[in-house]
Amino acid sequence: MEKVKFSQDELKARLTPDQYHVTQEKGTERPFTGEYTDTETEGMYRCIVCGEPLFASETKYHSGCGWPAFYAPLAEEKVDEHNDTTFGMRRTEVTCAKCGAHLGHVFPDGPRPTGTRYCINSASLKLDPKEK
Ligand SMILES: [Zn+2]
Repeated sequence: MEKVKFSQDELKARLTPDQYHVTQEKGTERPFTGEYTDTETEGMYRCIVCGEPLFASETKYHSGCGWPAFYAPLAEEKVDEHNDTTFGMRRTEVTCAKCGAHLGHVFPDGPRPTGTRYCINSASLKLDPKEK
């Protein structure tokens, strides 16, 4: 995928402080506070930074973890996964493959058909609702 890079000044001006902190400083929003935690609206979840479509509402499910959870990205090449050992935990970080924005983490305890849980911060996403 073609990469894009934004200037930090532009992002600071365009994003909310929460969105900036999560996507650029690998922050995590507090559980159950995100805009999309329980959202069931049909549509496409895009990267808040670059607008790339990343997750479809069809793969969103209620995991109870406090963040939006998806069992698969829109396509494998849409996200990059990295080993993350910060805070003494072994986790897999998920970033937007296009702009490098931090999205959240992926865990091997999701539902069928993938068994994977993409635990994504609402602050990293922008829902593009399906037209009625
Ligand atoms: Zn992006």
